[in-house]
Amino acid sequence: MRANDRALGMDQRITRRDFLNSAAIAAGSIAAGMLPGVVSEASGEVASCAPPGYYPPRLTGMRGSHPGSFELAHKLRFGDLPRQVPRQAESYDLVIVGGGISGLSAAYFYRERKPSARILVLDNHDDFGGHAKRNEFDLAGRTELINGGTLGIDSPRPYSVVATRLLGKLGVDPVRLEATCAKKDFYSSLGLRRGIFFDRETFGSDHLAVGIGTKPWTELLAGAPLTPTARADTARLYEEKIDYMPGLSREQKKERLARMSYRDFLLSVAAVDPGVVPVLQASTHGEWGVGIDAVGALEVWPLGFPGFQGLDLNDPVAAPHIGAAPHMGLTASGYAATGGSYRFHFPDGNASIARLLVRSLVPSSIPGRSAEDVVTAVSDYHRLDRPGAPVRIRLNSIVVAVRNLGEPASARKAEVIYWRGGRLAMARAKAVVLACWNMMIPYLCPELPDAQKKALKYAVKTPLVYTNVAIRNWHAFRKLGVHEIHAPGCYHSSVRLNQTVDIGGYLSVRSPDDPILIHMVRTPCRPGLDQREQHRIGRAELLDTSFEVFERNIREQLMRMLSAGGFDPAADIMAITVNRWPHGYAYEYNPLFDPDWNEHEQPHVIGRAPFGRITIANSDSGAAAYTDCAIDQAHRAIAEVMAIET
Ligand SMILES: Cc1cc2nc3c(=O)[nH]c(=O)nc-3n(C[C@H](O)[C@H](O)[C@H](O)COP(=O)(O)OP(=O)(O)OC[C@H]3O[C@@H](n4cnc5c(N)ncnc54)[C@H](O)[C@@H]3O)c2cc1C
Repeated sequence: MRANDRALGMDQRITRRDFLNSAAIAAGSIAAGMLPGVVSEASGEVASCAPPGYYPPRLTGMRGSHPGSFELAHKLRFGDLPRQVPRQAESYDLVIVGGGISGLSAAYFYRERKPSARILVLDNHDDFGGHAKRNEFDLAGRTELINGGTLGIDSPRPYSVVATRLLGKLGVDPVRLEATCAKKDFYSSLGLRRGIFFDRETFGSDHLAVGIGTKPWTELLAGAPLTPTARADTARLYEEKIDYMPGLSREQKKERLARMSYRDFLLSVAAVDPGVVPVLQASTHGEWGVGIDAVGALEVWPLGFPGFQGLDLNDPVAAPHIGAAPHMGLTASGYAATGGSYRFHFPDGNASIARLLVRSLVPSSIPGRSAEDVVTAVSDYHRLDRPGAPVRIRLNSIVVAVRNLGEPASARKAEVIYWRGGRLAMARAKAVVLACWNMMIPYLCPELPDAQKKALKYAVKTPLVYTNVAIRNWHAFRKLGVHEIHAPGCYHSSVRLNQTVDIGGYLSVRSPDDPILIHMVRTPCRPGLDQREQHRIGRAELLDTSFEVFERNIREQLMRMLSAGGFDPAADIMAITVNRWPHGYAYEYNPLFDPDWNEHEQPHVIGRAPFGRITIANSDSGAAAYTDCAIDQAHRAIAEVMAIET
């Protein structure tokens, strides 16, 4: 215990007990994928035997890439794996590696083409959905839901016909749901606003300024620990309509903005005082996982970042295609005009989409019929992997090798070896879809051509953390008049009350007397470096950080931000879940660091080429960190499988 640990409540008995339990299981049996599951030597058949009460959405503590889910993959990288090859193999029409939205969509699309197909989906986590994970809390007898990763049905592009059609088949009409279910303005109706927390380490003293969007900036920043010039320049940036690039055409401005970081735009073009930079440094963290030093100015313009209002850029239709980043320059109004991207989200985020996919693939595992009732439906994990079922979803199963049986050009089958229940198991199929992560594939499939392996290793996924904290009531937020706080210098750079969405039988919290969840985001990065290097450093940091360190930081940050409203971390915190994603968002090319490739030169295009009976899906293979991309890439991979099979 450290000096102020007792004040922070580090000794309190919260439901991280669950974490301790799962860590205990990890030490004993889950570690390295050793969850219960029995492989019959005679048939190779794997019998699923999840222990009674197995229900991972309710686990707290360290989730996301949880202990036991990844250690073996890291050993694979260093060639340090058990080599006893199983004698028997299970046989399927299709094996899919990865049970995220892409892998589940691939299963869906294959069954559409081949309704009687037998499919095995393998995933290394203890829950399905990949990044689209559900966190479920029991708060004083009421179930409260929140996303552990993928939240929204949104995208910088219109959803494709394929992705929109799949949502429709699952009963998800985001426009209708947005109109009937979303209640995002609840907190503002209570007079709660957005705020900025200035921390003493970055700015000199702790200060919470509340009223973004409702107060003039000079008033909002009146007591903030900024110099008068930094304060005035921040206000100018947000409120004045100045053309900082006179004499240039709209296209010339966009071209230049695409090649400079937002930080450079602020300092060199808008000529703000350097004291403004720390205020905005972390404002890109949630979307890109790096600060404004590594994000292009044109990238942030469509999201309403300050400084562009006098530049007359607003012409979404004429948005330039800049290098390998075709999404740049679309505007929010552009999305609306094209009608393709949605704003609705379920209370547990796109975990509901994963659950709808699972319900369609294994109907007995999740009861119900609609997009509304899936929210409160309880999934029966024991039914995911039943002998004889046409689709089997096998969790806690980390794939370590995939190969064609014979020469890629003439192979009739492919083979998958995976680790489960403390031993290796094998499955063979007419085709294998790798809906896992690109950088993992060269280790699974060392026979791939060298150029393809190099391309698959190029991208570095964004590390990030979604922390969800259950608190006894939200009087402190009410008293301080705030529901969302940007904290540019803190461990978690954003903190907000759980968004309210009423849907089906699920009702969000309404009374400040009731327990609620707080959502906090951390994106570890190292400003000043190339984006991929920042991601590598951040990933190593996340894998190295213990739950105890997260917990202490969470408690201290909440105390410093909210104690003026009466918040007491020792008394008010009921449970903590840290969704740690060392391999988070798919990498999107960044014109500040990546070459201006033509499409056929782009690493993800080279990397996703089919290899004999093996095809590649996942959002990495579309170089876009969005659910529509995960679905589209699954559709392409299944089209390739169909072509191979005919
Ligand atoms: C914190 C976070 C928030 C996000 N928010 C949004 C959002 O709001 N909207 C949006 O559209 N997108 C969001 N995304 C992007 C998200 O990645 C995609 O939308 C989508 O969920 C990706 O699906 P996927 O199936 O392609 O990949 P994943 O979800 O990563 O699924 C791949 C699965 O394969 C598994 N796997 C990897 N290697 C192996 C192996 N060797 N053996 C077995 N299994 C393996 C992985 O563990 C994982 O479970 C978010 C991502 C993160 C991390």
